Amino acid sequence: MYQLNEKIRDLKPYDPIEGNYRIRLDANESFVPLPYTVMTKLLEKTAFLPYNRYPDPTAEDVCKAFARYYGIDPALVTAGNGSDELISLIMTAFLMKGEKVVTLSPDFSMYKFYASIAEADCIELEKQDDLTIDVDAQIEFCNSNGVRLLIFSNPCNPTSLGLGREETRRLIRSVDALVVLDEAYMDFWNQSLLPEAADFDNLIILRTCSKAFGLAGLRLGMAVANKVLTNALKAVKSPYNVNALSQAIAAEVILHPGLLEEAIRQVLESRDTLFKGIQELSKKHSAIEKIYEPCTNFVFLQVKDAQKIHAELLAHSIAVRLIGGKYLRITAGTEEENRSVLAALEDILTKEG
Ligand SMILES: *Cc1c(COP(=O)(O)O)cnc(C)c1O
Repeated sequence: MYQLNEKIRDLKPYDPIEGNYRIRLDANESFVPLPYTVMTKLLEKTAFLPYNRYPDPTAEDVCKAFARYYGIDPALVTAGNGSDELISLIMTAFLMKGEKVVTLSPDFSMYKFYASIAEADCIELEKQDDLTIDVDAQIEFCNSNGVRLLIFSNPCNPTSLGLGREETRRLIRSVDALVVLDEAYMDFWNQSLLPEAADFDNLIILRTCSKAFGLAGLRLGMAVANKVLTNALKAVKSPYNVNALSQAIAAEVILHPGLLEEAIRQVLESRDTLFKGIQELSKKHSAIEKIYEPCTNFVFLQVKDAQKIHAELLAHSIAVRLIGGKYLRITAGTEEENRSVLAALEDILTKEG
């Protein structure tokens, strides 16, 4: 009788949140749709693609558009089917079985998942009490334990906190490990290391089109690193990992920098409104214990009875993320969505109090 191996035996299919909710503020997507004029342009462009042929394995057009947008060398860019694919690829290809990976906690949960599929030895280091990263502690731990790979998000999902450029550089320079710096939310902050990615021999920066660019449905992520690491990534990826439609659409959208800047501005404005609204609520309701200074498109807060509040928001048909049993992560939404979630919170906290 066939039996699944033990590394996958108990896994369950990924399920973000079951059920249909009126308001979805649980996945950090952008609430900004593409303008109608761009949609129409895309319709034309994608109607005539050679779908009988395999897509460009190097995703040249979209890598070039991406590189131009950020002012970097296109030869250092590798496209992936979402940065999720790139994380998985890096874990499987850059580590031998049993080698040590360090992830921080709390951080993006998929790191640990892909490390376990890759049969790496994943060590999760707790962040400091204020949820910031202790750079010296990371350096010391990595170098005295033969760690081969260190991966973390900056700014961080879920804490929304950022690590400044100088500290990030110091961390990368001081460890022997390969550092995978996940800048999924860096379009909302200003401490990117993208322009200097090639100055390090041990750095891969990940970016995604799923958050600030509002293209989560396309599944497109990018890795930026020096030539040696980029060659290795291109050599180990599956040849046709990014489909023709995603390549064509993203290449077109990224060629409208003004559009992206405007979308980012709108998201940041919404994020500030949400942040201020929650700050106001916290003055009246002591159940809100701490609100973290956001560097992303979401707000992270520590609340009393988080589980219960999360459930009651779901009862209001509003989905947010419950993290670690005591935090809520709320994605910035449209004006109306923000108003709804703030009103629901007010309602819930007033009844609780
Ligand atoms: C959303 C997210 C990603 C996933 O990006 P995809 O390109 O959609 O796979 C990667 N890292 C972090 C930290 C994220 O929050």
